[in-house]
Amino acid sequence: MALSLATRSLARSLPRAAQRHLPMVQQRLRSTAAADDEALYSLAFSEEQNALKELARKFTAEEVTPVAAEYDRSMAFPREIFNKAWELGLVNTHIPEEFGGLGLGCLEGVIIGEELAYGCTGIMTAMEANGLAEAPVIIAASTEQKKKYLGRMCEEPLQAAYCVTEPGAGSDVGGAKTTAVKKGDAWVLNGQKMWITNGGVANWYFVLAKTDPSASTGSAFTGFIVDADTPGITVGRKEVNMGQRCSDTRGITFEEVVVPDANRLGDVGMGFRIAMGAFDHTRPPVASGAVGLARRAMDEAIGYALERKTMGVPIAHHQAVSFMIADMAIGIEAARGLVHKSAWEIDQGRRNTMFASMAKAFAGDHANKVVADAVQVFGGNGFNTEYPVEKLMRDAKIYQIYEGTSQIQRLIVSREIFKLGRGALAP
Ligand SMILES: Cc1cc2nc3c(=O)[nH]c(=O)nc-3n(C[C@H](O)[C@H](O)[C@H](O)COP(=O)(O)OP(=O)(O)OC[C@H]3O[C@@H](n4cnc5c(N)ncnc54)[C@H](O)[C@@H]3O)c2cc1C
Repeated sequence: MALSLATRSLARSLPRAAQRHLPMVQQRLRSTAAADDEALYSLAFSEEQNALKELARKFTAEEVTPVAAEYDRSMAFPREIFNKAWELGLVNTHIPEEFGGLGLGCLEGVIIGEELAYGCTGIMTAMEANGLAEAPVIIAASTEQKKKYLGRMCEEPLQAAYCVTEPGAGSDVGGAKTTAVKKGDAWVLNGQKMWITNGGVANWYFVLAKTDPSASTGSAFTGFIVDADTPGITVGRKEVNMGQRCSDTRGITFEEVVVPDANRLGDVGMGFRIAMGAFDHTRPPVASGAVGLARRAMDEAIGYALERKTMGVPIAHHQAVSFMIADMAIGIEAARGLVHKSAWEIDQGRRNTMFASMAKAFAGDHANKVVADAVQVFGGNGFNTEYPVEKLMRDAKIYQIYEGTSQIQRLIVSREIFKLGRGALAP
C-alpha cells in the first residue's frame, strides 16, 4: 500500500474541513515522531491526530461494533474487516514510508488503537498483532530484510506473528528451549511455540531461538524471520479462549526448519534484547486497547444506569451506582494519560520502558475493574450473553496476561524505579 493510497483513503473518509489540511498531515505527524525534534508537550490532539481519531471512530462504528458479537460467537478470523482497515491505512501504521508504510508515530497508533478497541478488542488484537511481529524487524532488520518483509505487508493485507512464548516459558523468556543451530549458510530450528496470536494466518513469523545454550539469557538467543510456508512448520489447532475469541491463537512447532542466514535478525546473541525491545513499541498500543474497552464498558453502564429504575428512580441516582461510574471515569482518564505519555516518550526517541509497563499494568488492571463494575451495574442482565458487558468482561482479562502479565509489568517498573533511585519521577 503506497503512502498516497492511504492518504487518499484518509481523504475520502474525513470530514470536509479536515480534508483541506491533508497535505500537512504526513509532514506534521512525521515531525512528531522525529527523534531529535523535541516537540512541545501538549494534551491537545493536533488537527491531524483528530482526523485519524475520527477516521478510526467512524470505521469502528460502521464496520466493527455491529459485527463484534457475531465474531465472538463464530470465532472466525475477521479477515474482511482486516482488509478494509488495511485499505484505509489503519493497520501497520508504524511501518516507515521508505518501505511503503505511513511512518506514523506510536502516539498516532494509540489514538487509532483506542477507537478500534471500543468496537471489539478481539478484532483490534487481530490487527495489532502485526505491530508486535513487525516491531523486531523495524528495530533490528537490515534494509534488505525490511524491504522484503515490511514491504510485503504494505503491498497486500497480510498477517505476521511474534513467536516467543513456549509451553514452558512465558514470563520467563530466558527459559525458552527452541534452538537454532548453524549449518553452513543456514540455521536449523527445532522447538515449540505457544499462544501465538495470528499463528494460523501469518505469512511470516518473528522467532526467538537459543543459539548459545551456555550463554546468559542476554546473549543466548537470536531472532529470525521465518516464512510461514517453510517445510517443517506445523501450525496447531485454533485455541478456544475466554475472550477476544476471533483473534487467532495457536501453538506452532518447528521441526528441522531450515532458515537462511540472510533471515537472521541482527547479530547472533542479540535476540533477547530485540524481542524485549519490541515491547517498548507495542505495550502502549496494547494498553490503548484496554482503555478503549474500558471506555466502551463505561458507556454501556452509563446508558443502562440512566434507563433502569429501582425504588422509583433511575439507578444512576443511587450514589452506590454513580460512584462506580465515577471510579470508571477517573481511571480511564488516568490510564489514557499513561498510554499517551508512554507513546509520546518513544516518539521523542527516548527509552520508554518504564512508562510502557506502567501504562500496560494500569490500563489492563483498570479495564478489569471497569468491566466487573459494568456487569454489576447491569445486575442480572449483566451476567447474560444478550447484553454487551458479559463479552467485555471476558475480553478484558487478557490485558493482564499477554505482552507481559501485570506482575511482570510491576517487576519492570520496580527495577526501573530503583535504577533511577530517589527523585525518580520528579518532573
Ligand atoms: C490469547 C493469548 C495471546 C498471546 N499472544 C502471544 C504472541 O503473539 N506471542 C507470544 O510470544 N506470546 C503470546 N502470548 C503469551 C503470553 O505473553 C504469556 O502467556 C504471558 O507472558 C504469561 O506467560 P505464561 O502463560 O507462561 O505464564 P507464567 O509465566 O507461567 O505465569 C503464571 C503466573 O505467575 C506469575 N509470575 C511468573 N513469573 C513471575 C515473577 N517473576 N514475579 C511475579 N509473578 C510472576 C505471572 O504473572 C502469572 O500470574 C499470548 C497469550 C495468550 C493467552
